[in-house]
Amino acid sequence: MSYNAIKKEDKEIYNLIKAEEKRQNKYNAELIASENFVSKAVLQAQGSILTNKYAEGYPSKRYYGGCQYIDQIENLAIERLKKLFNVKYVNVQPHSGSQANMAAIRSLINHGDVILGMSLDSGGHLTHGYKLSFSGQDYISYTYGVNKDTGLIDYDEVLKIAKEVKPKLIICGASAYPRKISFKKFKEIADEVGAYLMADIAHIAGLIATGFHESPVNYADIITSTTHKTLRGPRGGIIMTNNEEIAKKMNKMLFPGCQGGPLEHVIAAKAICFKEDLMPEYKTYIKQVILNAKAMSDEFIKLGYNIISGGTDNHLFLIDIKKSKNLTGLQAQELLENVNITCNKNSIPNDQEKPAYTSGLRIGTPALTTRGFKEKDFIKLAHLIDDTFNNKDNNEKLKDIKEEVIKLVKSHPLRYKY
Ligand SMILES: *Cc1c(COP(=O)(O)O)cnc(C)c1O
Repeated sequence: MSYNAIKKEDKEIYNLIKAEEKRQNKYNAELIASENFVSKAVLQAQGSILTNKYAEGYPSKRYYGGCQYIDQIENLAIERLKKLFNVKYVNVQPHSGSQANMAAIRSLINHGDVILGMSLDSGGHLTHGYKLSFSGQDYISYTYGVNKDTGLIDYDEVLKIAKEVKPKLIICGASAYPRKISFKKFKEIADEVGAYLMADIAHIAGLIATGFHESPVNYADIITSTTHKTLRGPRGGIIMTNNEEIAKKMNKMLFPGCQGGPLEHVIAAKAICFKEDLMPEYKTYIKQVILNAKAMSDEFIKLGYNIISGGTDNHLFLIDIKKSKNLTGLQAQELLENVNITCNKNSIPNDQEKPAYTSGLRIGTPALTTRGFKEKDFIKLAHLIDDTFNNKDNNEKLKDIKEEVIKLVKSHPLRYKY
């Protein structure tokens, strides 16, 4: 992008955007599992004049005049999203995944009710009941984890905890769980204890939309997601349900319950993203994302690494880097950052390190797969990562590795030029 107006008006911000553009575009291997590269069309919608418009309310029921085009844009986003997940009622206004979760939880239960969500160190999200989040403060929250030997959700254990704590709401879905989630089993547990079920599919939404993962649509009372992870859209959130009563509540709870004016420039970008996600090319992309994650985690296993749950069924996997290389997650993340590989430290099940250090690394394939990386490229990257840890005190060698990373990234340019 030229950004010529920014260049003229604000040199400081311009220079920083250009620096970040280079970092993303030319020099870095992006392995953060929650990131992706949007299309130029998505980018342009977000930079459009739609940002000028106030549109509190919903299509045909706005508090401001002049919404005739905005309404059509939001309706397109709504219709496309319904089609993408084969669901009856959707809300495309949440500013983020966390806002979607706040509105979704509030539309099902009351302040002070009991909730049961996945613990943070097992891969859950802050908004699933963590003490520093609204979800841990407004509700009495309990957690389930994964089996410490297998790394898998133990559904019998979840049922046992649910029977003990009697939640009004069970939340399933995760930020760092490498295996499939059985929404059907969660629904059985929720039914057995008389709880609502919320599925937060922020990470795996793209896999669900393309049929590579079971859909929660016929099981969960309410479903939330982000749009900027595997869905490859703008930064934002969505809420979905098949239940008309819950749909009415979720709309009221989002606006005016939690938010004011919707970001219609982002909603236009969401509409474009959903259109892209309905194309056959997107299904091919997601298939490759999964193949790449499997190829890379298999390679790490061959190299002697300890992978949580022994592999992956989706777009990410977790390395127990403490066990594998006697490094904390933070040390590993910083070592890799020095050779232009970006990923994040992550807690692992029963982590003995504090969240600021952790014992794990989370690695995801969505972003680099968008660049066209295939299995062989991810296998190469696995070796470069291993070389980095094995030569962490050898500056000459680290310099060579960094050059190799840049070469690999440059050989897979983004689909579009900025
Ligand atoms: C990323 C994520 C969110 C929150 O998304 P934000 O847009 O960062 O607020 C919620 N739930 C899960 C499971 C996530 O992975």
